[in-house]
Amino acid sequence: MLIVGAGLSGIGAAHHIQTRLPGKTYTILEARDAIGGTWDLFRYPGVRSDSDMYTLGYSFKPWPGAKAIADGPSIRQYVRETAAENGIDKHIRFHHRVTAAAWSSEDARWTLTAERTDTRQVVSFTASFLMMCSGYYRYEAGYTPEFVGLEKFKGRIIHPQHWPEDLDYAGKKVVVIGSGATAVTIVPEMAKTAGHVTMLQRSPTYVVSRPSEDKIALGLRKWMPAKLAYALTRWKNVLLQQYLYTRARKKPGPTRELIASLAQKELGPDYPVSTHFNPRYEPWDQRMCLIPDSDLFSEIKAGHASVETDTIEHFTETDLKLASGKELEADIVVMATGLDLQFMGGAAITVDGAKFEPGKALTYKGMMYAGAPNLVSVFGYTNASWTLKCDLTCEYVCRLIRYMDKVGAKQVTPKLAGEAMKEEPWLGLTSGYVNRSVDRFPKQGSRTPWKLNQSYVSDLMMLRFGTLEDPELIFS
Ligand SMILES: Cc1cc2nc3c(=O)[nH]c(=O)nc-3n(C[C@H](O)[C@H](O)[C@H](O)COP(=O)(O)OP(=O)(O)OC[C@H]3O[C@@H](n4cnc5c(N)ncnc54)[C@H](O)[C@@H]3O)c2cc1C
Repeated sequence: MLIVGAGLSGIGAAHHIQTRLPGKTYTILEARDAIGGTWDLFRYPGVRSDSDMYTLGYSFKPWPGAKAIADGPSIRQYVRETAAENGIDKHIRFHHRVTAAAWSSEDARWTLTAERTDTRQVVSFTASFLMMCSGYYRYEAGYTPEFVGLEKFKGRIIHPQHWPEDLDYAGKKVVVIGSGATAVTIVPEMAKTAGHVTMLQRSPTYVVSRPSEDKIALGLRKWMPAKLAYALTRWKNVLLQQYLYTRARKKPGPTRELIASLAQKELGPDYPVSTHFNPRYEPWDQRMCLIPDSDLFSEIKAGHASVETDTIEHFTETDLKLASGKELEADIVVMATGLDLQFMGGAAITVDGAKFEPGKALTYKGMMYAGAPNLVSVFGYTNASWTLKCDLTCEYVCRLIRYMDKVGAKQVTPKLAGEAMKEEPWLGLTSGYVNRSVDRFPKQGSRTPWKLNQSYVSDLMMLRFGTLEDPELIFS
């Protein structure tokens, strides 16, 4: 088996394969020189998770930290530790960027082409099964909108994806452009030492505070074995998150009011919450932003940070001129303007010589694709922790491979055979970064098994306990 990517998903996939499929061999191809993916790449101040580590952690390795909302370096360490203590690190080929994957039905084999990022040498590998754990965005660069006059600006422009280690922002005037998870993380952290930090957003996002420590989880840990305490906390958080998500979708009005009233309480009665924290869309049309222990609100209240909801007209040498006529002076501008989404690590995929176009593909159970044999991509939830789906996907793959061995099949291919369906976008979010790349991502259908559940409980029933026999899954 070949796994592409040594991030949270790739290391998790390797663990599932080596524990559940002891007779199989695998190799991980990783473009970079490090384990951890996202949690190694992003080094901006305060980088942290925005979901709890009891669900972002693996099902098989209890999260050891005291904080449920954890910092990036601790998550990186957790992924590395998982790789080291299970010998997974010995299976990784670093500096191997996969550029192409070609399936041959005659050989029942994938042939992967990889470019060595250190020597530029082109090498190839074959495998009978391919797991793409390559994440969902381009590592080279984030998304930067075009701003008039940006080239005139004399201050520093920073992209969170490539944070300079030497950046000294103490006492400086900082403008962070954006209102997503990255912006709400960076603003309070920089505000601790910067002169002032302004979060400049075109439109507001839902921002919800949550304690960084989970008292119940820490209590359970004292009274029972770590694995049991972890499993119970994981279930508590899965069910709580599912309940809050379902309630928000069913009752958007009251949810909006509740979130606004909580922000108002934190920021004081005179703060214009309706201008800066009242989005134009309904809760969960886009991912919500979670902040630990109200850190963003505290820094705003203390006057160290502020929010502007406005549009940039142009940059000058020293300022950002806004549509309202306001001018924001800045020494440093941080472009927290989002990711550039990418599917399957940008590799060109072919099946028996025919080009596989991700944008036209139909997803099967949120992991395989109609017409693509022995191929799984590991992809998390948009409304819950990534690893919940990653673990279930890997379990399913192991079941599938055991079943193939049992029936003597070399090839498994999803094939649309039942009633016709309406096709829908894969990512059911309205965020700018999703809309920009909707054509690059596969589609989902309107019925099982072609529809994405976005629900851990439904996926658990389907992927852990559901039958593998399906007229729309062809074993040959
Ligand atoms: C700042 C930030 C915070 C986040 N916080 C959360 C959170 O709190 N909760 C949550 O659920 N999700 C969060 N996410 C989503 C997050 O990406 C996932 O949780 C998870 O880390 C994804 O892991 P992954 O291994 O699938 O992908 P990645 O972490 O992206 O790792 C992919 C790996 O594949 C490698 N790769 C890619 N293409 C190729 C190729 N062609 N050849 C070889 N190697 C390749 C990359 O180098 C990388 O090492 C966050 C994302 C970001 C950017």
